[in-house]
Amino acid sequence: MESLTRKSKDGNLVNMALRLDTSLQYLKGVGPKLASLFSRHGIRTVGELLEFYPRAYEDQRAARNIASLKVGDIVSVKAQVVSVSSVNMGRSQRKMYDVTVRDASGKIHCKFFRVPYKGYFERFTPFKEVRVVGKVIDYRGRAEFHHPDIRDIDPEEENQDALIPLYTEIEGLSTAKIHRFLKTSLDLIPDEEWPAEKLPSWVVKNYDLISHRKALELIHKPNPDLGNLYMENRTPAHRRLIFEEFFWLELYLASRKTGFKKEPGTALRGDGRLITQLEESLPFELTNAQKKSFQEIKADLEKPSPMHRMVQGDVGSGKTLVSFMAALVAAECGTQSCLMAPTEILAEQHFKNAQKQLSPLGLKVGLLTGKTKTSERKELLQQLADGDLDFLIGTHALIEDEVKFKALTLVIVDEQHRFGVEQRGVLKNKGRSPHFLVMTATPIPRTLAMTVYGDLDVSIIDEMPPGRSPIQTRVVFDSKKAAALQFMSEQIVKGRQAYIVYPLVEESEKIDLKDAVSEFENLQAQFPNFKIGLLHGKMKPVEKEEVMTRFRNGELSILVSTTVIEVGVDVPNANIMIIEHAERFGLSQLHQLRGRVGRGTHKSFCIMIMGYAVSEEAKQRTQFMEQTTDGFKIAEFDLEMRGPGEFMGTRQSGLPGFKMANLVRDMAILQEAREAAFEVLRKDSQLKFAEHQPLREELTKTHGPTALAGIA
Ligand code: ADP
Ligand code: MG
Repeated sequence: MESLTRKSKDGNLVNMALRLDTSLQYLKGVGPKLASLFSRHGIRTVGELLEFYPRAYEDQRAARNIASLKVGDIVSVKAQVVSVSSVNMGRSQRKMYDVTVRDASGKIHCKFFRVPYKGYFERFTPFKEVRVVGKVIDYRGRAEFHHPDIRDIDPEEENQDALIPLYTEIEGLSTAKIHRFLKTSLDLIPDEEWPAEKLPSWVVKNYDLISHRKALELIHKPNPDLGNLYMENRTPAHRRLIFEEFFWLELYLASRKTGFKKEPGTALRGDGRLITQLEESLPFELTNAQKKSFQEIKADLEKPSPMHRMVQGDVGSGKTLVSFMAALVAAECGTQSCLMAPTEILAEQHFKNAQKQLSPLGLKVGLLTGKTKTSERKELLQQLADGDLDFLIGTHALIEDEVKFKALTLVIVDEQHRFGVEQRGVLKNKGRSPHFLVMTATPIPRTLAMTVYGDLDVSIIDEMPPGRSPIQTRVVFDSKKAAALQFMSEQIVKGRQAYIVYPLVEESEKIDLKDAVSEFENLQAQFPNFKIGLLHGKMKPVEKEEVMTRFRNGELSILVSTTVIEVGVDVPNANIMIIEHAERFGLSQLHQLRGRVGRGTHKSFCIMIMGYAVSEEAKQRTQFMEQTTDGFKIAEFDLEMRGPGEFMGTRQSGLPGFKMANLVRDMAILQEAREAAFEVLRKDSQLKFAEHQPLREELTKTHGPTALAGIA
């Protein structure tokens, strides 16, 4: 074993063994400057570097000349830069970059719809020799690369290894250099410094896993004989690392689920009186799916262990009413419930519905948001503490300390993917292990819901109330916009109302907002006879509410809006929506937006306008919206195209960001890991076995000291 040396403060060389927790600056060739670069990307130690996995592999045996490329191939091409150019995309001030390269046989375009990092394109000077690695795409009949890896030719690597891992370049630090650091790290960690196996031996054996160390070695120093498997992320090394990532998540979820079962809560056995009264007072019948979901909820509420359930249903499927029924059960038992919504508009809408549907049955309902007046708020909080209020609806204002209930037994959260896990936790602590119900309109594919929300039971409302008119959707290019507006104005003349929606993308919020505002002004000039309103996130809540109310009352014919209207807004007379830059939205978001129309009896329309110069992938994705209004199909397609992070918003959903695993591609491994995790807790419900101590440690390390609260 070779040992490392470094200069100590007094200039002497000292020996230093490399370990997983060794700071990266002590790695040969790194030093303080590169170390701080790495650390800005979350890589501080040798161990963390080893978890910086290749984003792809390049098999030089699959190298081709440009003329022979076929659509769909993943290839490596040695070529010369011809030119770099950029084109503005529509009015958005966004740019598309095109790096054209050639070899003796021909030329190909490499297109980038976003800049990988600042200065990325500067190094591609004409005649420079590069390697392009990527998938060949068909763009309007022509073969192209979209977002390929383009790297400098590295003479050391060229023709040496047949199979080369490619890393995401870190601010100009080349993938070859990163690879060298990784090889050095692997070579210099002595055997005794490798941590012992964390997974129980029976798991390793039953699930046919190689060791963690071996897996890391094979990931960074690939075995050329398995070239194809590497390309598809299917080597035993991949399997081991993916399994492990899933296993930790599933073990956590499994332990929480076991824990919830043990918490003592309040059994709510209502006499059904209020439920019957509600059903009699409604001008419509509950759908079968609503009835079934409520039965599941009711059965949970009757048990002393707290309910932990998610009601999942498409926009407009009537989830709110089902949650109101749960609140009625709590009220029948003389206890309180609350409902938290993600926006003020939505909280107010729920409140109005509750006043309409629940107040006549004798329920005292309150509304608490950021704009509730001090005096009102004081009175509300008093009533709440005295137990005079049955049902409190509000925004995240509900989680403030001063909000104290007398007997909170049911917490309902609407659109839960918008709240962090912690916020839910705070709310739940306002009662003694209250029952918990979340409603989500994000149609999470069933498999994903089961595995990723493994700690929640799921009720699905897969049926729409009758009498809804189907929405006709068209995806068109920008050039058809005038025709779209004309069509819209015809609908308005017939008495209908319209939404025009603009995306707000964080990175260029100002530009986008300007788009929405200037569009609003254009429309006013173009349609002087129509009353038009503007709604965006930078407006004060009072202003927003005023615009919303005027639109709801039919005073405004057109609502120009950014995505603030996304969730839950219900204006049945609005039957047409135009979505600008539809390609910038995720499909699930488009689906949510579209769900604002088709709520009344009028035939409804959604026109999705794509900016020009959209990538082929974005185009195909958006066009999928014409094919179906089934939220689950859309979600599954979106998930496949974009992966779960984008799909659910990794941060808000509390969904862990996986380093190697992919929830779609690796679904089969996820199932196995889940099975293994639940099996562990079946064998050893409190993780007491010696063999399970590493599992305890890992859970506490990732989820904090309370991670084991459920089981120990
Ligand atoms: P979600 O929250 O699932 O998007 P909502 O609860 O907002 O849907 O319901 C949308 C609209 O449908 C509301 O106006 C609601 O009163 C109405 N509604 C709910 N259930 C039914 C039903 N069974 N039949 C007819 N209309 C219903
Ligand atoms: Mg809703």
